[in-house]
Amino acid sequence: RAMATSLLRVAPPEELLRPLAVPERLLLGPGPSNVPRRIQAAGGRQLLGHMHPEVLQVMDEIKAGIQYAFQTRNRLTLAISGSGHCAMEAALFNLLEQGDPMLVAINGIWGQRAADIARRLGANVYELLKPPGKYFTLQDIEQGLVQHKPLVLFITHGESSTGVLQPLEGLGKLCHRHGCLLLVDAVASLGGAPIFMDQQEIDVLYSGSQKVLNAPPGSAPISFSERARARGSDTRPTAPSCARGCLTWGCSSLLRRRWVQGKPTTTTTE
Ligand code: PMP
Repeated sequence: RAMATSLLRVAPPEELLRPLAVPERLLLGPGPSNVPRRIQAAGGRQLLGHMHPEVLQVMDEIKAGIQYAFQTRNRLTLAISGSGHCAMEAALFNLLEQGDPMLVAINGIWGQRAADIARRLGANVYELLKPPGKYFTLQDIEQGLVQHKPLVLFITHGESSTGVLQPLEGLGKLCHRHGCLLLVDAVASLGGAPIFMDQQEIDVLYSGSQKVLNAPPGSAPISFSERARARGSDTRPTAPSCARGCLTWGCSSLLRRRWVQGKPTTTTTE
């Protein structure tokens, strides 16, 4: 032991030899938010192996909880291990490929971020712009759909950079009339404002855990409609990211087990 220690050229950091000091702070922004004791206690439970049957049961329970929170019966509903950005990427990676036309409604930073990711993917991104603080009307959106004929429309439900809540009523129907999928970012709004994925005909919806849901960051709920899944499997058999390739995981319980084995901290699916 002494010999091994003598080989160390980097000393153990002093600060890690002290107990971790985390102050109590009242968090009043859109997120992260304070975590109730019940949720803190759940995070302090012992780990299970990823093939233990109890893990599969927990995964099923998480899926049922997300279906309830999103008000959806979508089979492909899961919690991605990652931030809201990871869910945003997962949604875009699974819906778009090089050259696909996409319309992004931008009235704050989250539309800009989605446009940035989609451009890096090689999508043909059209921007529908509103000044910060304004929301999009159905007429605004319809003009963009007619002009650009996108395959996907991205819109932010709760634009946390300005505090604007985007009305979603009628948007899904409108998109579908124009052959377009509706992708909604509800990272800052889920639990704070009503959202009804199936009734509002939203094709892909995602959120984050550290905002209104009062959980730690790192677990992002996401759900894909059957329409979104069909588009994904038609045009993109393999998403350009292994970890985010939700549409190619499949939905049988066998595949679910395989997925659990390969990527132990992401929960999916049927
Ligand atoms: N979308 C919206 C509307 C957000 O408010 C945020 C976080 N502020 C994100 C996406 C990104 O989430 P995360 O910070 O968990 O990556």
